[in-house]
Amino acid sequence: MSTEIAPRGAELALSHLLRDEVFVAGSWRTGAGEVIETVDPASGRVFARLHAATVDDVDEAVRAGQRAVVESGWRAAAPHERAAVLRRIGDAILRRADDISALQTLDTGKTVGETTALARSAAGTFLYVASALETLEDQVTPSRGPWMTIATWEPVGVVASITPWNSPIASDAQKIAPALAAGNAVVAKPPAWAPWVTLLLARIAEEEGLPAGLLSVLPGPGRTVGEALVAHPGVGKLTFTGGTSTGRHLAHVAADKLMPATLELGGKSPTIVFEDADLTQAVAGILYGVFSSSGQSCIAGSRIFVQRTIFDDVVARLVDATRRLRVGPGTDPRTQVGPLITHSHRDQVAAMVDAAVAEGAQVLVGGGIPLDPALADGAYYLPTILGGVDNSATICREEVFGPVAVVLPFDGEDDLIAQANDSDYGLASGIWTADYRRIHRVARALVAGTVYVNTYKQFSISTPFAGVRDSGVGVEKGREGIRSYMRQKSVYIDLSGEPLPWAAEEARAACAQPHDHSTA
Ligand code: NAD
Repeated sequence: MSTEIAPRGAELALSHLLRDEVFVAGSWRTGAGEVIETVDPASGRVFARLHAATVDDVDEAVRAGQRAVVESGWRAAAPHERAAVLRRIGDAILRRADDISALQTLDTGKTVGETTALARSAAGTFLYVASALETLEDQVTPSRGPWMTIATWEPVGVVASITPWNSPIASDAQKIAPALAAGNAVVAKPPAWAPWVTLLLARIAEEEGLPAGLLSVLPGPGRTVGEALVAHPGVGKLTFTGGTSTGRHLAHVAADKLMPATLELGGKSPTIVFEDADLTQAVAGILYGVFSSSGQSCIAGSRIFVQRTIFDDVVARLVDATRRLRVGPGTDPRTQVGPLITHSHRDQVAAMVDAAVAEGAQVLVGGGIPLDPALADGAYYLPTILGGVDNSATICREEVFGPVAVVLPFDGEDDLIAQANDSDYGLASGIWTADYRRIHRVARALVAGTVYVNTYKQFSISTPFAGVRDSGVGVEKGREGIRSYMRQKSVYIDLSGEPLPWAAEEARAACAQPHDHSTA
């Protein structure tokens, strides 16, 4: 039996958005699953309780989705009709950006600057997808016979969307908008640790006229609700963002059903400084690339390669600038590095740093929790730079998902490429140099889905995003991001009237008679 929570501070203004309800098949109701306590990571305080969805809800939501795409006319609607609804949702997200930002900062600890940007990005995703949808075309392909051949696309039916806690509203939009655009229903399973903005997105979609049943939101544990969703026979596609081990497991579940899956997974991205780089820009960009979101970013540039000729200088600058980063609650607009998602995750990060030190790493800056008593109750960890190890060290192989980077020297381009590509992952990478020929060479040689040049951690919904190796399978964003929620169909239309070889003799004879076109 859970006790009432008396909202205070920022929670008061948000309490109307913290209703203990999940969204199943077009209706809001208290979940029948376990109680999720959501915690403000800046204070350690439980600010809301939510009854999770259940495996039964999964079945109901999927079946409702199957019906809704047909009965509401969504599947058959013309692209511009679906686009109109998506556009309204995008506009409404923009109008509600302050609410979404405040809710997400409360739930995840991210800074208001970051959560505002994520809310705007989610709005931009719905608006972009609406426009892109109206420009997608079927193809009349070059025919190899007396037929018209048309390559067309159709929705897969019901899409399972499973997301992590680090950038909720943006990762929801990145999946839900194109999946709906393609004519599908979506059953979304947000993370138990940060379910609130996904539920708010569902309220907005409902208010803006998305037909009932097309979107269900089922917060709950991955091992029960998530697993049942992926395995459900009525689900036709999985789109998953999360850890590599979870993604690998779900790929097997999807493979058993012969179901397509898009997997956006972890990373251990290199960010590279050549001796001719603008070092002021590079240092600021590197710190932003690894320490914003407290390092809880799949593309965090956590392996910092520096050309040996400038290694000591760059490391000194990085250490000095890291020491001056402002650590604090996400609600303070001056904060650059907020708390981590939970205390237990913070403790895991600390344990990985301790293990790195035991393996020979030196802590150049950070390496512990802040001493400021005002931060004592939050899940904080200081931005940390480690040195003294090479790229084979565990801390260079495994994703930390926290504010921890390692500096590594390199000699020439060949040495750099060999080290940077020596990883199980292949998500992002960064190059800091003024030499355009080198940019071209190195960008092509790096094994990564995204290469940033003299910038880092920028996002554009119109540009494809993908990981290779253990960083994922499939592409999100861009026009092809909508296609990934469709399956292709080819249509052959006979234009000759000629019978096929096995047709009866009479049919051949009839066909040989001259046609009378006078009444056609
Ligand atoms: P996670 O894999 O633990 O969980 C992700 C989601 O999967 C959650 O909703 C969780 O409840 C669900 N889940 C867990 N086990 C499941 C199961 N057996 N069946 C179905 N669903 C299950 O990851 P996390 O800790 O929430 O997120 C951090 C990870 O996400 C990091 O590895 C990070 O790199 C990755 N990530 C990748 C991208 C990208 O685009 N490549 C973006 C953000 C985060």
